[in-house]
Amino acid sequence: MKNICKNCGPTSISIRKGRKECKNCENSKRRSKKNASSIGVKTFLQAAKCFAPSVSSTKFYTVVSDVHIPHHDKEAVTTVLEYVKDLRPHGIVYNGDILDFYEISRFNSGSLKKLENQRFKDTWDQGNAFLDNFMKAAGNRLEEQYWNDGNHEDRLARWIEHEGNGVFADDEAFSIPGRLKLKERGITYNPVSDKAYVKLGHLLITHGRFATKYSAAKHLDTYRHSILIGHTHSPQVFFGPGFLHPQVCYVSGHLADTKSVAMDYSSEPNAWVQGFATVAVKKSGNFSVQLHTLWDGQFEVGGTTYGE
Ligand SMILES: [Zn+2]
Ligand SMILES: [Zn+2]
Repeated sequence: MKNICKNCGPTSISIRKGRKECKNCENSKRRSKKNASSIGVKTFLQAAKCFAPSVSSTKFYTVVSDVHIPHHDKEAVTTVLEYVKDLRPHGIVYNGDILDFYEISRFNSGSLKKLENQRFKDTWDQGNAFLDNFMKAAGNRLEEQYWNDGNHEDRLARWIEHEGNGVFADDEAFSIPGRLKLKERGITYNPVSDKAYVKLGHLLITHGRFATKYSAAKHLDTYRHSILIGHTHSPQVFFGPGFLHPQVCYVSGHLADTKSVAMDYSSEPNAWVQGFATVAVKKSGNFSVQLHTLWDGQFEVGGTTYGE
């Protein structure tokens, strides 16, 4: 049976008694402590070393967006978790609109009917449960996590600026990193702005901001970089020319409950499709993206059906 290293998973390298890392990880950690400029570099080198030469150094990431908690589709999320358990990703990117903040949307202010039973508490409780479940499903190979705010998280920032709410500014009780314990979970927080992105190899991952018919082409034209976004709830792929390589924009789907009151704004008929993405990144920076789309709560990958 293979040894299980906490950094690089199954490995043929031996593990000292009472330790959780293989010898290579321990040694390279010692060596790279002074040189490595970031945790990402350090852990990547460790992983690459453990796997070489018999196991690939490719890293796998799960990218989810547009969950709109607490107005999410619980069954769809459970199906995604089933798959995450099998994938054992090295990283997770929470790519915007994970939380909905319907309860503080300016569109609803003053409407007692719409706000009946809508509570901040549900957002925080279910947001924490969502992160707990993802981290648990990912397992012991998980070493990187990123949270990019989307336009729905921006509702909180705008609400804080509204009238007397400024007294809650800088208050952990009204902040996403504070209430979702992002730091304790090891999740890098990128607050809402045009710079809320993470770069995995040669691919940028950000929430996106245009909801046009040809959103993938529009984002590629604007960002001029290979990119993976969410936001539109409607998966697309568009390739465009680039100097060394063609560039590409992927749009992943949503995991919201379309029957929820908060999703009322989706006009019928629409092109909303549930889904998420798997990103594989090579040491060279080359990447490949799989857009998974859920139909009736199910999807197929690698010959397996999830959500049966
Ligand atoms: Zn959304
Ligand atoms: Zn959005």
